[in-house]
Amino acid sequence: MRDCIFCKIVEGEIPSDQVGENQGAIAFRDINPEAPVHLLVVPKSHSKNISELSQDAESMEAVMSLMREVSEKHTNGHFKFLFNTGEEAGQTVFHAHGHILSQGAS
Ligand code: AMP
Repeated sequence: MRDCIFCKIVEGEIPSDQVGENQGAIAFRDINPEAPVHLLVVPKSHSKNISELSQDAESMEAVMSLMREVSEKHTNGHFKFLFNTGEEAGQTVFHAHGHILSQGAS
């Protein structure tokens, strides 16, 4: 999608500190971390938020599977997986993404 920063990261047009990838999702470090480990898990296909993403079973499975993989690798197993949804809830990038927030690296 034009003018979507996460679509551009998925396409490799904007660099990211990538930590994982599968067929339907990528994971990279948040540029402005709010915890010692702060990763984003992003579906490759554009959905505007988790509600829209939940209707795309393949992308949803890819996101959950990559969440499991990168959280096992990069956190101590104690983490939040958070989807801000809508401006009033703090969403600033309107391409669905889950935040993995952990106080401890593996
Ligand atoms: P949200 O506020 O839930 O929409 O989260 C958007 C997140 O994307 C914020 O935590 C930003 O720090 C992060 N972010 C924005 N641009 C980039 C980027 N180019 N690379 C990595 N993280 C980014």
